Amino acid sequence: MKYDESNIFNKILKGEIPCDKVYEDEEVLCFKDINPKAPVHVLVIPKSKHISFVDFINNSNKDIVASFFQKVGRIAKKLNLIESGYRIITNHGLDANQEVPHFHIHILGKKKLGDL
Ligand code: AMP
Repeated sequence: MKYDESNIFNKILKGEIPCDKVYEDEEVLCFKDINPKAPVHVLVIPKSKHISFVDFINNSNKDIVASFFQKVGRIAKKLNLIESGYRIITNHGLDANQEVPHFHIHILGKKKLGDL
């Protein structure tokens, strides 16, 4: 499957659509989900063009993958979620209802999230 350049997160990365930015560096962007499912609900995306989790981990070097997930952890800390707890989710493909075909991690917190 080819990366779809017209996906909404790519438009955010290109600055064509605004986002409510939480964190940005040369490798990642984190912004608030437009339809939050918890008081804290942010999305962390790599700036590289990967469709999904499996595309990202299989087609990026190990340092990039490790750095990305370390940053997810640091963002959770920056959002004061370490004590109260949080959930990270990534949806891959049809059965998971992945809406946006640019790999992203959801971070949710600041409420009882219940069973998966
Ligand atoms: P997924 O089903 O894992 O692909 O989730 C995509 C997420 O992106 C959903 O939770 C949407 O609410 C969120 N989303 C879609 N468009 C935007 C946008 N323009 N800004 C922020 N979040 C968005």
